Order: sequence, then C-alpha cells, then structure tokens
Amino acid sequence: MARTETQLVEFLSRNIIAGLKELLETKHLYQSVTIPTQDLDEIIRTGVEEHKKEVRLAGPTTNYSNPEEAGQTLSELLHKNVTRLLASHWDFDSETNSYPGARPVSTGYNQGLPPLQMPSVRVSCDNALCKGSAQPHNSGYIGLREGLGVYSVDNNGPALQIFSFPFQCQNCKGEPLIFLVKRDGQKLTLVGRSRITEVSVPHFIPDAQQKFYRNAIIADQTSFTLAAALYLRTVVEQHFYQTVPAAEIQSIRGIPTGDELADLYAKTLPKNFPESFPSLKKAYSDLSAIVHSGKENDQSKKSFTLIRAAVDGHFKAVQLFKEMPTYPS
Ligand SMILES: [Zn+2]
Repeated sequence: MARTETQLVEFLSRNIIAGLKELLETKHLYQSVTIPTQDLDEIIRTGVEEHKKEVRLAGPTTNYSNPEEAGQTLSELLHKNVTRLLASHWDFDSETNSYPGARPVSTGYNQGLPPLQMPSVRVSCDNALCKGSAQPHNSGYIGLREGLGVYSVDNNGPALQIFSFPFQCQNCKGEPLIFLVKRDGQKLTLVGRSRITEVSVPHFIPDAQQKFYRNAIIADQTSFTLAAALYLRTVVEQHFYQTVPAAEIQSIRGIPTGDELADLYAKTLPKNFPESFPSLKKAYSDLSAIVHSGKENDQSKKSFTLIRAAVDGHFKAVQLFKEMPTYPS
C-alpha cells in the first residue's frame, strides 16, 4: 500500500509539472490545461488487485473476512488520498538559482505533495539578443532573492491559488520573464506574463497592414475572437483602399460596401491569378459574419483560424505572382 501511495504522489507530481510545461509553452493568455488523473485510477486498480492477492494468500490470519472487502477498503482509502492531494495547496520550487535555504512561500496547509520543481520551458524571448526566437528558459533567475510568489485562497470549493513563476532565458540571461498562473482545482490557467509574446507577422503581409494583422493575432491568442475578426477585416478593407485606384472608389455613390470594394480589388489582380485561390471577398464577408454573430466561442474561433489561413494564402499568392519572373515563351 505504501508503494502505491508513493506512486500516486510521484505520478500526480509528474502530471502537474507536465501540465505546467504545456501551459507555458503552448497556451496563450486566459487559456488553460487540466491536470489528468486517469493514470492515478490505474495505479489504484493495480494496487488494489495486488492487495487482494496478498489477502488471499495470507488466508484467515488477516483481519478481513474476504479479499473483496479488503480490496474495497483499500480502494476507498487510496481514492480519498488522491482527493486530498488534489485539494491540497501545491508549492513550487525553482530548479536553479534559489538563494541558500530558500523555501517556497508556503501557507502551511500542504498535507501531501512535496514541493514541486518547476520545469525549464522553451518559450519565445523578446530581449534584444534573442529577438522573439524560442529559447530554453530555466525556472528561477540569477540573483533570485525571494521564494516563488504564491497566493492561496481558502474556500470551500476546489483549491484556489495564484502563482508567479520566474524564468530566465538561457541564451541571453536577460530580464526574467514572470508568468502568472491561476490554479482552480486541477485546472491551470495562464493569467499573465510580464512581457508580451513577440508576435512575428509573416513577410507576405503588406507593410501597411502589418500593425492590424499583429493585433488580430494577439486578440485571437487571448481568445478575443470578435476583436480578432474585426482587426483582420480591417486588414482586408485597408488593403482594398490601398490597392484600388481612388477614382474607382469615388465613382461609387455613398460609402462603398465590402462587396463593392472586393469586386474593384479583384480587377487589380494579375490576369492569370487563379480563381480557385482564396479570395479576399469571401474572407471579408466571413469575417463580417463572425463580427455580426456577436459570439465568442469555439466555433467562431475555429472559423477565424480558417479565414486567417485563407487571407494568408491570398497574400502569399499575390506576392508569388508579383515576384514571378517574366519569361517569354
Ligand atoms: Zn533571451
């Protein structure tokens, strides 16, 4: 049983660290990961089976009347243990650069999990030397004087904690990057970072449209899908205005609609531009549909991703046609 208990602590600790790494490396602001516990159920099942076997072998000398009852009792006990570990406050330690004798700031309520060692993570570094490239970051930083910040709230629901985790880029060893992570039971959410992720805009996006395109990506990454759709639609609309000759726009009475602009824009494309390539007219109208839906959910996020890929494809194709050498046949 002791072995099973140790295994539960080990596996849960490993799952938390892996979840934290996934959160910091792959998620954007206000996105979450949930710490899995399925493997813990499996460990309990195996432990209980072994225990039943032992009881069976020991025969009538045990306190239990039968192996089934013994298994049932142990299973309940282990599940209670897991529930306690999941409800307890978690403490973290940085892997390097802790000052001598440093202990994580603890609320003293921890009744199970030993302090967990924060993993190193590979995230983008926007310091001058690294220019937004992904770099390995150690947890902690050179000259760290305090323990890691944790704010634990006692409530009746799942454990509520907010952590501030410092990391330092191994390449430039520059200003530490601090992540703010909220824990709600088994759910970890990225709720802040001291420096924003450097968003690199693809080179085929026209210079004049880079700013709003960048805003669209940031809004999408933070799940403000309506804002993302509006920014990306602005990218398309501004591109229409900059590409279509002013005289043609003025010939339209009143404020031109997106459709009218898109039709004029289509005329500016090279003659041999394939019709099967993604069109900005459709992208404009699909983005309007998201904006008008007023819905910020998985579906609108998914369709934004598709539209963005189409807009990218269009600009990529335009650039390709522009760069195509003229070669007489
Ligand atoms: Zn760096």
